[in-house]
Amino acid sequence: MVYQASATRYAEMKYNRSGRSGLKLPAISLGMWHNFGGLDLHENGRAMLLRSFDLGITHFDLANNYGPPPGSAEELMGRVLKSDLAAYRDELIISTKAGYYMWEGPYGEWGSRKYLISSLDQSLKRMGLEYVDIFYSHRPDPNTPFEETMQALDSIVRSGKALYVGLSNYTAEQTKEAASILKSLGTPLLIHQPSYSMFNRWIEDGLQDVLDDFGAGSIAFCPLAQGLLTNKYVSGIPTDSRAAGKSAFLNTKDITEEKLNQIRQLNEIAVSRGQSLAQMALAWVLRGGRVTSALIGASRVSQIEENVAALKNLEFSSEELDRIEKILKK
Ligand code: NDP
Repeated sequence: MVYQASATRYAEMKYNRSGRSGLKLPAISLGMWHNFGGLDLHENGRAMLLRSFDLGITHFDLANNYGPPPGSAEELMGRVLKSDLAAYRDELIISTKAGYYMWEGPYGEWGSRKYLISSLDQSLKRMGLEYVDIFYSHRPDPNTPFEETMQALDSIVRSGKALYVGLSNYTAEQTKEAASILKSLGTPLLIHQPSYSMFNRWIEDGLQDVLDDFGAGSIAFCPLAQGLLTNKYVSGIPTDSRAAGKSAFLNTKDITEEKLNQIRQLNEIAVSRGQSLAQMALAWVLRGGRVTSALIGASRVSQIEENVAALKNLEFSSEELDRIEKILKK
């Protein structure tokens, strides 16, 4: 059936400006790291993308290596763009990245100009696109001068293959250095993509101030701590969960009794706010307006629907925030 986007797709979503740029991103964006690869069901991936767009999620985040196998998430995006979303290309913000291992030999990872430009060319081919909206250096390279990596990002924008550039996994100090170079080249840093959640708060210690100084936004990855900050693990490990599955990134040993205690207590606060824990965890990441977008993952459509409904209650009382702080300090 020919896909027709919902006429009410912009009714409920909130859009936040990325730093002091002209670009607005949805408060909730969808990442394609897990569940969109060649080993996953194409129909489920397609359904999640289309339902997201119908809910106002205009931003889809990829990387060269998302799959498995690496590259297959971009291929899926390419197929769905072709079959369903091509008519909406100007309503979409599609990002990809290069930095982690992608192919054999000395040019298949890190931050050289050679790698970044070849990798983006491959990504564009896989997605059938002429340009991406945001292209990221996925991680800092300790052995390539930042000047080279930033010059590559700058020339990618000038060549029209990306509209904006971002950094991911750079520390506050590294971001300061890289963003200064980008500024001097005339291609400002649009956005940083760090990990951030109630269980992982490193960006509060310096990075957020650097981003404010440069007028850059931020998009928080793993805002649900890969599913821990939901009620899914409260009474055991479901067989269809990421922790029980093939992912190397979340193990059953990460789900400790201490964590479960915190999760149960956080869940009580969420219930008193009339939210699920996932919804409260997303609202918490977005509190105070310092984070532009919460970058969620999902394994099924219902999770996306539940997560977007978090936007109905983004306010916290100071008492709620204090209670959350106490639980997180335990
Ligand atoms: P989350 O912390 O949002 O975890 C997503 C997982 O949580 C889902 O796959 C699902 O797991 C579970 N989940 C989501 N919603 C619910 C819900 N309402 N109820 C119960 N469980 C739920 O983010 P991810 O770890 O998936 O990362 C998100 C994105 O961030 C990635 O796709 C990628 O784009 C980006 N990222 C970037 C990185 C970088 O280095 N720049 C690194 C990592 C991620 P389940 O499968 O168990 O159902």
